[in-house]
Amino acid sequence: MPFNMKASLYILFTCFIFTVNAQINSKIIHSHNDYNQKVPFWNAYANGANSIEVDIILKDNNLYVAHDSHKINLKKTIESLYLIPLERALYMNFKSSEAILYLLIDIKSEGIITLNKLIEVLKKYPKIINSKSIKLVISGNRPEIKNYSNYPKYIYFDHQEIQNSISKSSLKKVAMISTGFKQFSNWNGKGRLTHIDKQKVEKIIKLAKKLKKPFRFWATPDSKTAWKAFSELGVDIINTDKPAKCFNYLNELPQKIAEIKSFSKVYTPTFKINSSKKTVKNIILLIGDGNGLSQISSTALVNNGELTLTQLKEIGLIKTQSADDFTTDSAAAGTALATGKKTNNRAIGVNPKGKPIKNIIEILFEQGFNTGIITTDEITGATPAAFYAHQKDRSQKNKIATDLINSNLNLFVGGGSVTFENLAIETKFQLIKSTNDLKKANHKVGFFISKKKPTPVQNGRDNILAEVTKESLAFFKQKQKPFFLLVEAAQIDSFGHYNDTNGVITEGIDFDKAITEAIKFADKDGETLVIITADHETGGFSIPQGNIKNHLIEGSFTTNDHTATMVPIFAYGPQSHLFTGVYENTEVFFKILKSISK
Ligand code: MG
Ligand code: ZN
Repeated sequence: MPFNMKASLYILFTCFIFTVNAQINSKIIHSHNDYNQKVPFWNAYANGANSIEVDIILKDNNLYVAHDSHKINLKKTIESLYLIPLERALYMNFKSSEAILYLLIDIKSEGIITLNKLIEVLKKYPKIINSKSIKLVISGNRPEIKNYSNYPKYIYFDHQEIQNSISKSSLKKVAMISTGFKQFSNWNGKGRLTHIDKQKVEKIIKLAKKLKKPFRFWATPDSKTAWKAFSELGVDIINTDKPAKCFNYLNELPQKIAEIKSFSKVYTPTFKINSSKKTVKNIILLIGDGNGLSQISSTALVNNGELTLTQLKEIGLIKTQSADDFTTDSAAAGTALATGKKTNNRAIGVNPKGKPIKNIIEILFEQGFNTGIITTDEITGATPAAFYAHQKDRSQKNKIATDLINSNLNLFVGGGSVTFENLAIETKFQLIKSTNDLKKANHKVGFFISKKKPTPVQNGRDNILAEVTKESLAFFKQKQKPFFLLVEAAQIDSFGHYNDTNGVITEGIDFDKAITEAIKFADKDGETLVIITADHETGGFSIPQGNIKNHLIEGSFTTNDHTATMVPIFAYGPQSHLFTGVYENTEVFFKILKSISK
């Protein structure tokens, strides 16, 4: 199995306590009654199961694979289903890994005669019996424990008499320790083990572990929750009828778990101007790209259960479908928010026929507003572009860049300077080098924070989104004119696409820090409306398990693409009540215009 760096950080979930478990990736997946699989042996072998169980019956001097003698199929012998394929797999060197493969042979007929026949058959398979990475483990009807050491060196045993003592020489022949789960618990694999059952289970595992052999329960519940629970309890061999699913789940679990160490300091708004009928002077629109309800929930739950965002009282839901698709992309969704018109996926500020549509920034410029855009994407990314550009396809980066240069924006901050290398952006914008330069910037200013896409928070991007938001608000405040500022937390979407829980949540925390700056500004200013929403949800994200106290979330994704679910919208400040309810994303544009109309 590949060693995964994150494995060492993998955090163990128990009822209330989390401890570090570096073992998760060394779990042995046991394909229970493997001969019942559609494709016996190969399915388990190819999909990461390192323990394969086969029941055998001796009949007419043949070793048939079956649970009982009525069900014998003459074609299905231990040779045809297991020994021939395994010998072939070894010959072809399909697995170069050093990991041990356990072939658990569960003898259903008389023990000693069947085992002797098995040994005779095995002599035909030298690659198997001479392999250092194969352990042939006899289970079911076994010889007496004291006789274990009389069998050939390639024969091992499944030890089930945990309570009894065992001699050193017999213990040497033991490959694994097994016991039935049902005698300790009737848990169905959903939710948690009861405290009483958990104690019983922990006690038997502790006892079995004294023998220092891999430990297995049989007759276990067979679900993600169960696989994870048994791993965390220290069960080494995970029993399953779904070896491929079980392997993938446990193997990917470290990436699914986020342990958050950096938090958003929650600001409690004054609510003095909230929802008042006063006309709005300034607008701050914050878009979390891909920031659906589970993204917000997980970010809040790891942040001691609260965000500045979750303090807000005016909340709605928006529908995100595009003109030509059930599931939108950021271009069509950005265009809907910026222009109040549905368009096709990939289209930037143009209608489905490709005709430019005036956006909110152009409209507000005509009404005397200063305008700005901040993003943690490249500045030519689809979301920011929908607020200043008019192009048929989001991939037309150079044309979008030219639209930025010719736009009436007063400020932009984002990544992607490389796109502008041969474009004369300095003729239109004063380019600054740091957030501090914003204080003394003139009326048209640009700040590239990276050559390409900005570094993710988890890879060391500092607090720049919140800092730039704060300084940009000060920049606009100085000018004394009304302003419209768009702030995009772009990479919540990126990590939704990558199915990276830690990435989603760290970008979400970063977003909340920027939201905090906007809400604080609105409280001081008294004439600013703050709107926070998403363009769509990304990843079909859900959060099956977690721990608030330890800031841990297990995330699960149903897709690496966007989904069509509604996304939350929050508003704060005068006219914030306009944003409650359930409506189309295009309505946001009209509600903004309504909020500033006198
Ligand atoms: Mg975006
Ligand atoms: Zn996306």
